[in-house]
Amino acid sequence: MTCREAIEFLMEYLDGELPAEVRAEFDRHLAVCTSCVAYLETYRATVQLEKAAFCEGETAVPPLPEELVQAILAARTCEK
Ligand SMILES: [Zn+2]
Repeated sequence: MTCREAIEFLMEYLDGELPAEVRAEFDRHLAVCTSCVAYLETYRATVQLEKAAFCEGETAVPPLPEELVQAILAARTCEK
């Protein structure tokens, strides 16, 4: 699986909608690709921030630094 494929499966992975076979491949890729792991964590954090934004009265979570997002996107060049 390439990084590009992994990113495409990301949303379904987080929703738990991936077929077992694809999920296993996805997990194998994550085990060897730190940039995709970082991307996954960033993505997950962003989703949580978006959810939190809809919850009035919740403690505001500091926004993800734009520099970090750009750094991760820039590092996402491996093709495994
Ligand atoms: Zn990757």
